[in-house]
Amino acid sequence: MTLNTTDDTSGFADLALRPELLRALSGLGYEEPTPIQREAIPPLMEGRDLLGQAATGTGKTAAFALPVLQRMNTDGERAEPMALVLVPTRELAVQVSEAFHHYGRDLGARILPIYGGQPIGRQLRALQQGVDVVVATPGRALDHIGRGTLRLDDLKMVILDEADEMLDMGFAEDIEAIFQETPDDRQTVLFSATMPPRINGMARRHLTDPVRIEIGRETAAPGETPLVRQTAYVVPRAHKPAALGRILDVEAPTAAIVFCRTRDEVDQLTETLNGRGYRAEALHGGMGQEQRDRVMGRLRSGTADLLVATDVAARGLDIEQLTHVVNYDVPSAPESYVHRVGRVGRAGREGVAITLAEPREHRMLKTIERVTKRRIIVEKVPTVADLRARQLELTRASLHEILLEDDLERFRVVVETLTDEFDVMEVALAAVKLAHEASGAAADEEEIPEVSLAAGPDRRGRRESGGRESGGRDQRRGSTPTGGMTRLFIGAGRSAGIRPQDLVGAIAGESRLSGREIGAIEISDRFSLVEVPASAADEVIEGLRGSTIKGRKATVRRERYNAR
Ligand code: AMP
Repeated sequence: MTLNTTDDTSGFADLALRPELLRALSGLGYEEPTPIQREAIPPLMEGRDLLGQAATGTGKTAAFALPVLQRMNTDGERAEPMALVLVPTRELAVQVSEAFHHYGRDLGARILPIYGGQPIGRQLRALQQGVDVVVATPGRALDHIGRGTLRLDDLKMVILDEADEMLDMGFAEDIEAIFQETPDDRQTVLFSATMPPRINGMARRHLTDPVRIEIGRETAAPGETPLVRQTAYVVPRAHKPAALGRILDVEAPTAAIVFCRTRDEVDQLTETLNGRGYRAEALHGGMGQEQRDRVMGRLRSGTADLLVATDVAARGLDIEQLTHVVNYDVPSAPESYVHRVGRVGRAGREGVAITLAEPREHRMLKTIERVTKRRIIVEKVPTVADLRARQLELTRASLHEILLEDDLERFRVVVETLTDEFDVMEVALAAVKLAHEASGAAADEEEIPEVSLAAGPDRRGRRESGGRESGGRDQRRGSTPTGGMTRLFIGAGRSAGIRPQDLVGAIAGESRLSGREIGAIEISDRFSLVEVPASAADEVIEGLRGSTIKGRKATVRRERYNAR
């Protein structure tokens, strides 16, 4: 008898979620709950308050969204929201609303994101028609409460997501004011990546006998983590497939396993990698035993060199020749990282663990470092120029080989005829071009934006990497990290048309700083990092918050790594 591997939402079924939710999760390709979901969902479904320490990437959104949707009343139209989720930023409001939409699809859940900068008319209309869940930034929520357009009398649940960020952004008073408007018998959930005293204070005031959950508290016992080289790359989501392809080109693994979160991601990535010329095979819980056996056969025989898999499907697999473990997303908990990476570097063999993290997930890398007691070096994704240089180097090496070993006499006539007309050097150049192009050196032209973490798990590579838009700016202080400087996060970047001079202009215009006192500027797609003298940081933050950059309001705060 073969094990039924297709019944893969069983992990969620154990949580006694309603069938509509199970269907939605299965449709999304989720195979099992993440650790935080496994821990948080049962007490939340019992109605307990909860205080959770968890960073982005752990699956915390579903950990609170599923219990909300579980509790949602679907018979009879309710006018007022049953749950309010407070989040620090507009991006997160949109993201959390989308997650609720996906999970609540079959329940007909009505979700409304509310944030500043969006026309209020649309929000008013939606609120009038009735919504089940409001996901809001505190400022705009309070605005609606004041106008009487957001009524919280019927609220069953209040969730604070990324509470530390909200406090950092100065929302403490707004949050207190919002709590005043909510019923006393509500259920309250607070998630935060860090637990500074202010968060504990807030929890003491507003949570009743909460269940406490912390991801990554335990550290792995020595010997549990095999000796592997651990590296990470910070890559915006849209560029992950290209980045992975390039990293694999450089690493050239004998055999690698690439871990994805969901079934859909496994299928998509397998297709992408095959399109790029790799021999990749998919393995996930939606596949039958026979299919799995075939895939494993191809991997063992060397017909395939990459296995793209979910955790569930890869459980219990032992692949002898495995050299690389790649986390296409940060794992949802450090234990899962340890488990995945444990597949390489055994029995004295060399092993490599590579993790792709999105900018928002960098905190998870720190947690993993702490738990595994091993450093993770943040590397720079090879650039188009790196790749070209490497391909040329390969062509040069092939030519060198041929010059040493081959009998080239029969080609002499070609060179001789051509040298009647051209210089030998020119003929050689043309021949190299032909050889280079014939080697299949792919023209990978996609520039992957650099998102360097200022003081990430490892600072190496930061100064060289830079994303440096401002020429000599960096060099003034050489490679000293921040001599009395503080790095600020500004929530607008290249895609908003931001250039270094816009930031310099805005800062110089809103503070007493002159352009020359502003340090390194790094601009990525979605945000920018700017170094300013620490003594002027507060002034700059306040000034920028009160104004616009290129005509738009942007989040401005201390960059997270510096905030501690
Ligand atoms: P979060 O930490 O809530 O931002 O979630 C991180 C990512 O994990 C999101 O892209 C979710 O869609 C995904 N995710 C959450 N829970 C699961 C799960 N149980 N299985 C697979 N993916 C998940």
